[in-house]
Amino acid sequence: MNKPVIFVDGRDALGAAAREFIDRPKRLFIGGAFTDSVAGGKLMSEDPASGADICAVVAADAEDVDRAVAAARTAFDGAWGKQVPAARAECLTKLAALIYDNLEEIAEIESLDTGKPAHIAKALDVPFAAEIYKYYAGWATKIQGRSFDLSLNPEAFHAFTRREPLGVAAGVIPWNFPFAQASFKLAPALAAGCTVVLKPAEQTPLTALRLAELVVEAGFPEGTVNILTGFGHTAGAALASHPGVDKISFTGSTEVGRKIAAAAAASNLKRVTLELGGKSPNIIFADANLESAIPTAAAAIFGNSGQVCNAGSRLFIEAPIFDQVVSGVRDIAANMQLGAGLNPDSELGPLMSQVQLDRVTGHVDRARGDGASVLCGGSRAGDSGYFFAPTVLAETTADMAVAREEIFGPVVCAMPFETESEITGLANDTNFGLAASIWTENIGKAHRMAAAVNAGAVWVNSFGVFDPNLPFGGYKESGWGREFGIEGIDAFLETKAVSVSIGA
Ligand code: ADP
Ligand code: MG
Repeated sequence: MNKPVIFVDGRDALGAAAREFIDRPKRLFIGGAFTDSVAGGKLMSEDPASGADICAVVAADAEDVDRAVAAARTAFDGAWGKQVPAARAECLTKLAALIYDNLEEIAEIESLDTGKPAHIAKALDVPFAAEIYKYYAGWATKIQGRSFDLSLNPEAFHAFTRREPLGVAAGVIPWNFPFAQASFKLAPALAAGCTVVLKPAEQTPLTALRLAELVVEAGFPEGTVNILTGFGHTAGAALASHPGVDKISFTGSTEVGRKIAAAAAASNLKRVTLELGGKSPNIIFADANLESAIPTAAAAIFGNSGQVCNAGSRLFIEAPIFDQVVSGVRDIAANMQLGAGLNPDSELGPLMSQVQLDRVTGHVDRARGDGASVLCGGSRAGDSGYFFAPTVLAETTADMAVAREEIFGPVVCAMPFETESEITGLANDTNFGLAASIWTENIGKAHRMAAAVNAGAVWVNSFGVFDPNLPFGGYKESGWGREFGIEGIDAFLETKAVSVSIGA
């Protein structure tokens, strides 16, 4: 049994700067100004550790999307489009520095809005966002075309490519890492020379609005970055189908990803990048270093309360060590301290919402009915907020919904395997293909497995290696395209081939 959930009054636990931010009006950021919605819509942001309202936020509607896209177009054709690359780099570098200057405050706001431990947001999420801006500041001045010898008449032409920004880019992001996700969309788009309309998730609008203030301070020309808090089915859908948007980069569920792709296709064939769900295998062979593999297996599924697209939700363990690994992971799960993010002792925050709590509970209940055994957790923890006890399931089989569908909660299916060829088949028996971990001390086996699994990221004797320079994205229904690295900026550039007759 886990220790009792720790509660705090979220507002009281905030530092002065974060509290002042919460008290400021929460409005749309369009064309460099904070404004209300034309239709007057509002949404309420909630503290998932208590279910209490934090503050009301303006909700954008289709008319606001029109205004933001127009502002972004004006900036693209004007002030931002005419900046030299070095000036783009300077704005991005300044934004990164401002994030570090306000690290504590941003981490506290993020913690209150998402429920995640503030100390984790401060150590990981927010600095990672700053590093993404710094990294892409470097790329802004390194965009290059190529020159070509034509294969049929090299004497007659000088041919070369230009890399040009796509134009107005939309970013639609989820609620699990709101501040970091905003940087994944903004930084490469801005480095490429695009202007942006960003829509954070309706559940977690707050840090994006703090970011808007920092965008002003960093000196980006007005309209370069526009931030529309609002709902998915209104503001999000309007962005996906907008004829004035040249590119949409989406992170979220596979279900919504399909809608975005369909809307993009039906409107103007805007370019689409999709970073979607996963059901990532974490594969532990009997020769693995278990001192490292066991705690990492727990962190891989319980971190951020399992609300991570690449969570290691299918834990495959070679039969001889099955009991040892499962009991190790179960002991870690049963001893985790759940609590409100703003309490420094909390290791694990709540789920995002009542919807999410119902969804995770439903999955576990169904798994029980399908014959799974619940080794620990299995239900809600505490009686306020949306906490769910870290859960280890055994006797799950590959055909059960709990082993096939993305749960987005702290629920792991532990399943044994016997041979390398069996585990390759099991690992790839999924519609997803985002990530995979492989644990073995046998270097040949590690490389064979790394090549055999169908996943955009493979981590050997580790889990969750993220770096601004390392492309990340999915095979199969886990998405289209890659974020980070050179692939990340390529996704916001068009290629133009220019052939100049030189008269030969
Ligand atoms: P989750 O199911 O985890 O909440 P979603 O995929 O529903 O994740 O949401 C991710 C983002 O997509 C959010 O910003 C949400 O507002 C947005 N969204 C939801 N539905 C749509 C839609 N039909 N069109 C565009 N964006 C949407
Ligand atoms: Mg919230």
